[in-house]
Amino acid sequence: MTKRDPIAPGAVIGILGGGQLGRMTALAAAELGYRSHIFCPEKDSPGSQVAWATTCAGYDDHGALERFAASVDVVTFEFENIPHASVRLLADIVPVRPDWNALRVAQNRVVEKEFLNGIGIATAPWRAVDDVAALALGLEALGRPAVLKTTRMGYDGKGQVMIGAGMAADEAWRRMGADSGILEGFINFACEISVIVARGLDGQARAYVPVENRHANHILAETLAPARIDPAVARAAEGLAFKIAQTLDLVGLLAIEMFVTQDGQVLANEVAPRPHNSGHWTIDACATSQFEQFVRAICGLPLGSPERHSDAVMENLLGDQVERWSAILAEPDAKLHLYGKHEALSGRKMGHVTRLYPKSGRF
Ligand code: AMP
Repeated sequence: MTKRDPIAPGAVIGILGGGQLGRMTALAAAELGYRSHIFCPEKDSPGSQVAWATTCAGYDDHGALERFAASVDVVTFEFENIPHASVRLLADIVPVRPDWNALRVAQNRVVEKEFLNGIGIATAPWRAVDDVAALALGLEALGRPAVLKTTRMGYDGKGQVMIGAGMAADEAWRRMGADSGILEGFINFACEISVIVARGLDGQARAYVPVENRHANHILAETLAPARIDPAVARAAEGLAFKIAQTLDLVGLLAIEMFVTQDGQVLANEVAPRPHNSGHWTIDACATSQFEQFVRAICGLPLGSPERHSDAVMENLLGDQVERWSAILAEPDAKLHLYGKHEALSGRKMGHVTRLYPKSGRF
């Protein structure tokens, strides 16, 4: 088999990570006749509940990674914080899609911003800050308010500090709780949007319509599909997503979170080379869901149509909001998705609900 041959249904897809993204990927893979093998440290994960096989081991357990790689036909991941040595080891044995290049950019916010700006994509103004003195200088340069984020391992607002007029640099540094950070100028955005683009082995790329994301406490609360933005802004956002996927020579799925400024400028905020929470609506509202598209892309199959047959609003069910499941099931047009997690910790993504609406003329 050459690197360009399709991986046919019946094969085994290895997925690093056992969360809800791995679960929904495994479900889509099963619909196309594939088996999924989840690799994650947690027992009874949302992914492994629906997978064909699970390896329960750490992401740095080289022996377990080797055995896993030898037993699957392709490896992908549902989150980006996989150690470089582990990706290298896997890639020596089996195709890893997307490859290390995409992970490298997504793992580190400074590398990510350098990459984006380097290919002419605008972001919030930023400074890499490695100590309190650098932070103080950064604050002078960028002004306040500003947002301090950990360089690595940040998600859902973790390790993020909003620095207003009253906060001293050393206080902000202490709150961030890491030894390297990125300081960003605060963007008084009109809205936050994201675009998910799939790119196949042959370089063919398809994007889902830009969607609008509302966050509460830095966690995605709601996605509106499509976004309520000008067609020109939508085109700019899509163009930017295609450019990133192409420059990375990505095979798989890429989500780009962006800010739309008050004057209609699009600024890239974050890149995730995997299925994304803001694409969950596609399961119920599109010809091909983001998860099926992901499976098609990493297996070298033709991509499906990302067209939507309905508009949609996706609401995340966080923590004890999941207790509303019974009332949601009683709504005729609501589609409920639960992730099989046992403990409804505060802010934890327990499930989501998608409500469909007649397709509007927008985009
Ligand atoms: P992130 O982890 O970078 O996706 O940030 C989480 C959320 O914090 C974003 O979705 C925004 O709502 C907010 N945020 C992050 N960076 C900025 C910024 N530079 N200006 C304004 N809001 C921000």
